[in-house]
Amino acid sequence: MRVGVLTSGGDAPGMNAAIRAVVRAGLTHGDQVFGIYDGYKGLVEGKIEEFTRKHVSEILNRGGTILGTARLPEFAYEQVRKLAIKQLEKNDIDALICIGGDGTYTGALRLSEMGVKVIGLPGTIDNDIASTDFTIGFSTALNTACDAIDKLRDTSSSHQRCSIIEVMGRECGDLALYSGICCGAEYIVTSQTGLDKEKLLNDLKTNRLQGRRHAIVVISEHMTDVYQLAKEIEEYTGYECRATVLGYIQRGGTPTPEDRLLASRLGGYAIDLLHEGTYGVACGIKNNKLVSTPLADALKMKTKRNESLEELVQNLK
Ligand code: ADP
Repeated sequence: MRVGVLTSGGDAPGMNAAIRAVVRAGLTHGDQVFGIYDGYKGLVEGKIEEFTRKHVSEILNRGGTILGTARLPEFAYEQVRKLAIKQLEKNDIDALICIGGDGTYTGALRLSEMGVKVIGLPGTIDNDIASTDFTIGFSTALNTACDAIDKLRDTSSSHQRCSIIEVMGRECGDLALYSGICCGAEYIVTSQTGLDKEKLLNDLKTNRLQGRRHAIVVISEHMTDVYQLAKEIEEYTGYECRATVLGYIQRGGTPTPEDRLLASRLGGYAIDLLHEGTYGVACGIKNNKLVSTPLADALKMKTKRNESLEELVQNLK
């Protein structure tokens, strides 16, 4: 087989480990593997290169993606996807492995509806793909967030402050929930829990009156203006309050062993599936087992509210 691999959408640590696994497992199976640069944009432009084992040497521990990534909103148009298919035909590529988030999966589904053999791998720090328990990049982003929150805790307890920390995750609260638990946050606010501002302010005021020196609030992005919230907390509770938006540092860094392992397993699995004649699917991990889900179903699935972890937060307060 001649297999193409690309990374698309937001970059995530561990994407390189996935590329490496696809290339190495493909070569082991006797395939030829082609790296496609800059996602669907590079595919349309024909930025395609045959990869050897050497192309993927020394990348396992590197963040980002050696293939680069780009956004091409025009990929939603059929005529643009036809240009991509022409490039695949020109290079005799039989199958395509697309690593990215749900936007990437939508592009992959559209290609598969046009007859291309496609497999999707979940590469995003947001953990917002429901067809897998964990996405490639989540573990590293969680590590980065925990490291930052621990540091902010040191200064907030020294100064008797309240710290609000905004983490990424788009509509998925996992990054906030997991990092909040791991760092002992007093409050965790996600799109699943919702923001009950009145309760938050009252609880923080009670905390302060009870003599607690500091408080940590971890909140998912897009929930509210955290700088404004910090002002309201200061005015209402008497805590000095600072908001920190962690932002893009959560996307970078050396992938954790968990992300390297997950990416390596999923990359190898994608090649196995192609050799079995399975495509049009998204790969993932459920209860530590590799699984494949039709792309259309994977895109329809909603990330589940993690009630047991939310309950744990309440129990640990
Ligand atoms: P992610 O894959 O991380 O969710 P994006 O949402 O930016 O990132 O999607 C990555 C790329 O996938 C887009 O730049 C575009 O090329 C392609 N894509 C996204 N949505 C669609 C769509 N509705 N139809 C076809 N392609 C899409």
